[in-house]
Amino acid sequence: MAININSKLCDSRESRLGSITGFSGSLNDLKQDLSCGGGCVENKGRCFSQASSCPSNCALGQLSGINDAAIVHHGPSGCAATAIGISSNYDLLAGALGRDRSHFAYTCTDMKEADTVFGSIETLKEVILETYHRYHPKVIFIGASCVSGVIGEDLEGLLDDFKGEIDIPIAPVHCEGFKSQIWATGFDLAQHAILKYIVKPPQKKSNKVNIYGFTQGLSWNTRSDIKQMLGAIGLEATYLPASASVEELEHLSEAVATVTTCSTLGSYLGIGLEKAYGVPFVRSLPPHGIVGFEDYARQLAKIVGKEAEMEAYLQKERDFYLPKLEKVKEKLRGKRAVIAMGPGFGANYTRILQEFGIKIEHLLAWHLDKQYDDGKQPTALKYLTENSPNNFNYSVNDLQNYEFMNILNNVKPDVFVSRHPGSTVWAMKIGVPAYCVYDEYNSFGYRGTLRFAQTLLDIITNRSFAENLSKHVRLPYSKWWMEQKYDALYEGSEVKELVDVK
Ligand code: SF4
Repeated sequence: MAININSKLCDSRESRLGSITGFSGSLNDLKQDLSCGGGCVENKGRCFSQASSCPSNCALGQLSGINDAAIVHHGPSGCAATAIGISSNYDLLAGALGRDRSHFAYTCTDMKEADTVFGSIETLKEVILETYHRYHPKVIFIGASCVSGVIGEDLEGLLDDFKGEIDIPIAPVHCEGFKSQIWATGFDLAQHAILKYIVKPPQKKSNKVNIYGFTQGLSWNTRSDIKQMLGAIGLEATYLPASASVEELEHLSEAVATVTTCSTLGSYLGIGLEKAYGVPFVRSLPPHGIVGFEDYARQLAKIVGKEAEMEAYLQKERDFYLPKLEKVKEKLRGKRAVIAMGPGFGANYTRILQEFGIKIEHLLAWHLDKQYDDGKQPTALKYLTENSPNNFNYSVNDLQNYEFMNILNNVKPDVFVSRHPGSTVWAMKIGVPAYCVYDEYNSFGYRGTLRFAQTLLDIITNRSFAENLSKHVRLPYSKWWMEQKYDALYEGSEVKELVDVK
């Protein structure tokens, strides 16, 4: 379904894109199923599920990064618990960048049981007014919750009541948790609100590139690498949404192009800007590893007609970093890995580890997008299905730790590479060295790829911590469960579907 930035609602990924949270098979199975337009990839429902995450957490977490925005969360205070981590992280980021965050606020209507009967629109109005007068933000996002959604609170209906009193955009965000099992739907909801309520039509063209990401390249001083790469073709970055200002967001339509470090995260905004304002969305591989970085840099350079300048920059970097990388690759070659991440990063990091000569045994994606809003298959997944040197197990798992614990126990890889902090610790508990790719720029460009390869080698060769830890941990999983096999490729395996827990 094409994006309509004027629409009141942005539907879930399940209904827009046919995305799923359960699949068990191999990469080749997936390739075959995707070849019929994605319609053959059916969701495998679970009869048991551990806790996962909620789209409102994602949506409001993203929007909270905007320095002069306020969030009014219309729900029980428990839903707003997400604000705890958000405040400190983004305050630190703004501090590091020297940006003003004094107008940011995260407030909540604290809905109670009686509100589910009588409604609490009046309370919501009061909280919006109080937030506006106390913090003077440049935009107020009203975050919905399951409770406000179930009782049908009319968030759009109250906007007229503030005319003449509040002269900033007030943007309802329909992030009711029950709306989607895929937390990444929250990314789309946040970006829909930015597109609908903040971005203005272009007045002039700038030399800016919209970079939609998570952590803004502060670790490892990656910003200097990004600056150099863009500078080689006369461009500058606008980092968003974290630590962006409302004014910067208003001008996104004037940019040369939109790129993202993770297409699972940023595709909605990129495709939306392209459709509404003609800003090209770069559909390259993400800028990680050598293949990904070069594809990203070249496609960006092509948009501004500066391919020769970019090639000169890439050659200089290659000459410096690739000989060093080759030496590390020699030591990594033949190691075995299991990867668990969101679908974009998972396909992406699988490709990078394969560049290092590491054999992938199993890839777990937190969900699967068969396509994006332009009807195209995610680039990193497509590349993987067409170029992987070996077939491997592929499953879709929305952070169900019990499933990947079973897999790790069966596969016993040299390393587990994951991207969500609550997952790597479990691998360590059974003696598998693990690495959390928390920083999205971890393997950006040549320098980042070399650093990542060196870190992996350190982790694989220094295993004693994980091994010792495993001797002192009592797992909550039974021996029976840990020895179940459902892998499609393992010898003797009979079960191909997700297993019922008895
Ligand atoms: S919105 Fe719903 S799923 Fe999300 S935290 Fe609140 S009650 Fe839970």
